[in-house]
Amino acid sequence: MVEVIRTKAQLRAVRAKLTGSVGLVMTMGALHEGHLALVKAALAQTDNVIVSIYVNPLQFAPTEDFASYPRDLEADCALLDTLAAPASAPAGVEKTGVVRAVFAPSDAEMYPRQPLVRIDPGPVATRFEGTTRPTHFAGVLQVVHKVFSLVEPDVAFFGQKDAQQLALVRTMVADLDMPLQIHAVPIVRESSGLARSSRNTYLSAAEKTQALALFQALQAGSKAAAAGASPEQTLAATRAVLSNAPGVRIDYAELVDPETLQPLTTSEDSSSTPTALPARGLLILAAYVGPTRLIDNMEVTFHAHA
Ligand code: AMP
Repeated sequence: MVEVIRTKAQLRAVRAKLTGSVGLVMTMGALHEGHLALVKAALAQTDNVIVSIYVNPLQFAPTEDFASYPRDLEADCALLDTLAAPASAPAGVEKTGVVRAVFAPSDAEMYPRQPLVRIDPGPVATRFEGTTRPTHFAGVLQVVHKVFSLVEPDVAFFGQKDAQQLALVRTMVADLDMPLQIHAVPIVRESSGLARSSRNTYLSAAEKTQALALFQALQAGSKAAAAGASPEQTLAATRAVLSNAPGVRIDYAELVDPETLQPLTTSEDSSSTPTALPARGLLILAAYVGPTRLIDNMEVTFHAHA
């Protein structure tokens, strides 16, 4: 059974005894295959893996689902234990690491008082997710910074599912000279295409079918880009699928540069025709399916017509 650690002092004690490289996977629990992909990547790349399971109140607005967010530490640990069996190493990957501990602190342990020094996540945090969730990324980076300080990992693993979070964590690590690497893990989807998410448990069977529109919209954009569409046409193809989808209310859908998250357009260079296309873009979107807000994204490759 994986060891569950409740206090920062215990975590530091466990960390101090580790030899070899340390990987960190931060989660809010209600673990699913998406989270396990992060843990598997960490096991394949580092000697010791720490998994944090903490529903961080700082990243929820008062109107959001902090209270109802699914919590099941026992089930989460049982899932992590399945990875301990050698047979579970993904094919072709040499498993080297061991999950050393699950860090599952209480709120009082994590925040003995309301923090006074706060991380300012900068301008990218005000867009996309930040439009609907203006305090979200400040809360995310606060807890990420704290857990980085406690675990001192060599590599931290984050999912591409939360593309804006990933970009902001990378920015924080670069801007604050934090001594670790960030490794991105691709989105894990159900066979239907629906991106795995702890919040999928909120969906009824009918809503789960309606939620497929998110993946279909991204696919439509991706296909359009591959067929020679401009960024504007690519985004329009994505939005068209979402706007026509029953039961789905679009929050935002944008096409951005995969690294900077700045919006992409066809560059208007009057000296050269045809106008220059970017090579790649990232379609990012959020939509409500019933009361549940879901996010998804997909990288697209543009193909200019000859
Ligand atoms: P969460 O528990 O939702 O805060 O997610 C914890 C980590 O797991 C984050 O780095 C997420 O991006 C990642 N993650 C969540 N769902 C998926 C998924 N479907 N595929 C890949 N990574 C995921």
